[in-house]
Amino acid sequence: MLDTMFEPYCIICKSKISFGKIVCENCLKKTYAPSLTEGDFKVYHYGKYEEPLSQLITEFKYNSHPKIGKIFGEKLAYFFLEVKLSQISTTMCLIFLQII
Ligand SMILES: [Zn+2]
Repeated sequence: MLDTMFEPYCIICKSKISFGKIVCENCLKKTYAPSLTEGDFKVYHYGKYEEPLSQLITEFKYNSHPKIGKIFGEKLAYFFLEVKLSQISTTMCLIFLQII
């Protein structure tokens, strides 16, 4: 019984996950949906503000999950590398979550 009480599960989809994790890989993949809006400035979007990303942000903001902060940090670092910000010739780049 104790095994099931402390069995880790994804905070988004409630599927079983390995110890030390807080979100399953499937939900994590769904949070990343990069896009670009061009106008006076180029605006890069990490993902759309919809589930499961919105759920993850809500958990981070209101339920104090430091592991989610680490996930966001790692994902944003990966995003910065992928868009190669150092090679972009604009004077300013903004990166936001896209609210639809
Ligand atoms: Zn999940």
